[in-house]
Amino acid sequence: MRFQKNDMIAVEIEDIGNDGEGIGKADGFTLFVKDAVVGDTVEARIVKVRKNYAYARLEKVIEPSPFRVEAKCAFHRQCGGCQLQALSYEKQLDFKEKKIRDSLIRIGGFEPEYVDAHMESIVGMEEPFRYRNKAQYPVGTGKNDMIVTGFYAGRTHSIIANTDCWLGVEENKEILECILEYMRENHVSAYDEASGTGLVRHVLIRKGFASGEIMVCLVINKEMTHALCAGERGRKDYLPKQKGFIDKLIRIKGMTSVSVSINTEKTNVILGKEIHTLWGRDTISDTIHVRDMTQPGYPFTGKGLTFWISPLSFYQVNPGQTEKLYSLALEYAGLTGKETVWDLYCGIGTISLFLAGSARKVYGVEIVPQAIADARENAGRNGIENAEFFVGKAEEVMGDFYEGNETEKKPDVIVVDPPRKGCDGACLEAMLKVRPERIVYVSCDPATLARDLRVLCDGGYGVERIRGVDMFGMTVHVESIVLLSKLHTKQNIEVELEMSELDLTAAESKATYEEIKQYVLDKYDLKVSNLNIAQIKTKCGIIERENYNKLKKENAKQPNCTGEKEDAIKDALKHFQMI
Ligand code: SAH
Repeated sequence: MRFQKNDMIAVEIEDIGNDGEGIGKADGFTLFVKDAVVGDTVEARIVKVRKNYAYARLEKVIEPSPFRVEAKCAFHRQCGGCQLQALSYEKQLDFKEKKIRDSLIRIGGFEPEYVDAHMESIVGMEEPFRYRNKAQYPVGTGKNDMIVTGFYAGRTHSIIANTDCWLGVEENKEILECILEYMRENHVSAYDEASGTGLVRHVLIRKGFASGEIMVCLVINKEMTHALCAGERGRKDYLPKQKGFIDKLIRIKGMTSVSVSINTEKTNVILGKEIHTLWGRDTISDTIHVRDMTQPGYPFTGKGLTFWISPLSFYQVNPGQTEKLYSLALEYAGLTGKETVWDLYCGIGTISLFLAGSARKVYGVEIVPQAIADARENAGRNGIENAEFFVGKAEEVMGDFYEGNETEKKPDVIVVDPPRKGCDGACLEAMLKVRPERIVYVSCDPATLARDLRVLCDGGYGVERIRGVDMFGMTVHVESIVLLSKLHTKQNIEVELEMSELDLTAAESKATYEEIKQYVLDKYDLKVSNLNIAQIKTKCGIIERENYNKLKKENAKQPNCTGEKEDAIKDALKHFQMI
């Protein structure tokens, strides 16, 4: 049967697409249904037909999915921001983990068993709302010439009035309403994108979660003097340096900095380069703590770094999860104090500075000069002297550094944290050329991560650990962190020697995973995975590689080994005299 536009179809949603849409099948035809939740049975209206698939709009939920939850935000369907609000948080985490796993298998060409054996459970948020430390609200004119602020409706530039986005901090609402009230009472105009007229374009709000400090920056369209000093009431472009405005804002708890940014360009870029502080400090501060990621609840270790953030600074938007991500980067880097570390795509040097305390020397590379200026400033303020930063391309700077500089100590660890498009091919090549012992890859796109890991693995590296970190709850985005280590071709011999020398159990060298699998298959006709074997080895107290030990959090849905498989593996371990 061929579907046509506007047909209504009942369909069961079986999967979640990359953009969070529900996926169902009707007569072999794939339907993508926005806002449908996996597990729902829905009535959907076809909006666009292609050869083998169609897009449809959710009209009615006939039978809700067990994973469907009440969305907190009334605008979640119109607003493009939260694609997953109607899906339970637990299921969101499963979806993200699966997204990483599928990419590694499909795009990276890794065996499912290989991925499962190295994948650790995703690090979720304790509270998946109110996690963003930064909000940029557009200001515009709505119905009845009312000044409004809110969010752009998905893929458009029309503003849905809403001062309380659930991802942002509670203070946003009070601040925005204070500004809107002032604008309405004093006839301050909102910017109009089409004509380029009107004064206030955006409100930027940032909060230091650790410090409690808040910054408000109003992005305005006019020259400073004209806009701020035109004092007569009633003028359309009148904006206060006046006490009334500031007085109200600074009564809000935590207010530390009030500024304006001048942006007169017709552009989507929000902030203009010129910033003037109207009240308080130029920056707010925030502290990122080091956490112990091996302990339940990831407790603080007592260490931390403080950053100073201006309206223009790049800074991670979810500080709670950033702490966990960076702490994992530190753990994966496995530093002892002697290492030379390169942090490529370093931004304002947050990861570099995080690692510097445990390394001999850290080099950071970043393409944006202002970010490197911030990195140096933050190093100084935190008293870090063994970090050096370069402005330039990741794919060029490190290679150039070692070129003709043979005596310089080669990197022991390289950390990369590229933008969505992943590492440049030349960057991967440069890494393979200097061959560090370990590579820590932080990624915000599982697809490009998988592509790059394939190159690194073909170049003589093995994946040790893979873990998702949920930095953006309610959205489809997921961050991942991967540890790779250099493969030593003579590894087996080395291991055997070391083992017998130390008189350890010698167990690890007795039989490989493949041999155990083959034995179990031949004798019991059972297929077992590396993960199964690792689990049983751990259970039997055989020393395991760290990556298997720390596979999963207790509550995670780690596939448990069945009793039958367990017995078969134990028999194999006995056969190979490992227990
Ligand atoms: N690690 C940092 C920033 C990561 S975002 C943090 O956690 O805060 C990725 C960074 O890569 C951005 O700052 C971007 O400006 C930078 N970048 C993009 N292309 C680059 C390139 N070719 N070489 C170096 N840096 C690049």
